[in-house]
Amino acid sequence: MDLRFTAEEDAFRKDVRAFIRDNLDPVTHRKMLDGRIPSKEEVVTWQRTLNGRNWATPSWPAAAGGPGFTSVERYIFLDELHQAPAPEPVSFNVSMIGPVLIAFGTPAQKARFLAATANNDIWWAQGFSEPGAGSDLASLRTSARRDGDHYVVSGHKIWQGMAHHADWMFTLVRTDPAAPRKQRGISFLLIDLHSPGVTVRPIITMDGRHEVNEVFLDEVRVPVDCLVGEENKGWDVTKFLLSNERTGIARIGMTKHLIRRIKRLAGDNAAALRKAAAIEAELKILEITQLRVLDGQRKSDGPDPRSSVLKLKGVELRQAASELLLEIAGIAALEVRSDEDPIGPEDEEWVGSIMPNYAILRAASIYGGSSEVQKTIVASSILGLK
Ligand SMILES: Cc1cc2nc3c(=O)[nH]c(=O)nc-3n(C[C@H](O)[C@H](O)[C@H](O)COP(=O)(O)OP(=O)(O)OC[C@H]3O[C@@H](n4cnc5c(N)ncnc54)[C@H](O)[C@@H]3O)c2cc1C
Repeated sequence: MDLRFTAEEDAFRKDVRAFIRDNLDPVTHRKMLDGRIPSKEEVVTWQRTLNGRNWATPSWPAAAGGPGFTSVERYIFLDELHQAPAPEPVSFNVSMIGPVLIAFGTPAQKARFLAATANNDIWWAQGFSEPGAGSDLASLRTSARRDGDHYVVSGHKIWQGMAHHADWMFTLVRTDPAAPRKQRGISFLLIDLHSPGVTVRPIITMDGRHEVNEVFLDEVRVPVDCLVGEENKGWDVTKFLLSNERTGIARIGMTKHLIRRIKRLAGDNAAALRKAAAIEAELKILEITQLRVLDGQRKSDGPDPRSSVLKLKGVELRQAASELLLEIAGIAALEVRSDEDPIGPEDEEWVGSIMPNYAILRAASIYGGSSEVQKTIVASSILGLK
């Protein structure tokens, strides 16, 4: 096993780093350094800048208009974005619906959506979860009945990230309530969020921010050409989508960025620096595990159950770093500030985001497959426990 990067991969990393340094808007960069959430406009502008270099869609093959990165290049690219730090291209667009349309879309769907999705001319939301259907997603109840050349969709989706920015939502609906297994009878539909009968209602989370929403669908008419894959076979599309997000899932670069903030804020606080060193040591181990997974993917690009370890441990370390940051900031962290607050002097350490970021990071062990679900995968697929 060779865990070193090749000379070409090292050169690619330098290229990405230079591109971010030369092209990322300084205000957006400063917000990211401060731990603020950039605005919709800033995210779209950056995605379009990346798209100008054909880098907005790291997981898309060249034949579909993407850069055709290897799994190692994808990892390096995301690692540089996380460490810079710079916004990631919107994952609903480029990691979720894009690859689905490439694999399952009709030629007309590809022509209509792919380029616009890469350039963020369309912002997508993910309409999977419902009250009572999260980890057990196949229990979903949103219904779609066929009426001529439309589906009529009714139901209640919850936790749609950034749906208030979105134009379209890829959605799971039940088209055959009588199917013998609940995974059958589910279809994958694209819904225009501007259609009559759609209501997007905000959920304000405990960090005080508006990132997630509920989406109510009341007799929404969706043209049948918005069905992806076959009717009642949406579960196959879903499994493809959920297994697709492997590279960079540990977000090691983001934790490295948090450790740098910790060191700046800790000064000569020896106890804090000791805790930071312990997190860093574990992060190094995780990075080696990540490189082992990537080495495996050099040989075969299939799903790797070790990705569950990366998700699980990556989240734990990010949560630990955010907790230490909170501990060091102490009482100052109580002065929570808005992401829209004016930018201060360049060398000012902005503590206004530390508390909200600590709070919202608790959700990272829930979304993208909860920690308990990841542990079950590790137990059955890696440890062979039944
Ligand atoms: C911030 C945030 C953003 C999100 N964004 C989106 C989005 O954009 N689109 C979308 O569709 N959804 C989104 N989700 C929803 C997310 O996918 C679900 O919250 C997640 O799948 C868990 O489902 P649930 O909330 O129904 O909890 P449940 O599935 O009810 O889980 C509750 C608890 O039970 C545990 N548990 C459940 N099943 C098992 C089991 N078999 N074994 C052991 N323990 C188990 C879980 O680990 C958890 O601790 C988001 C959630 C959050 C918090």
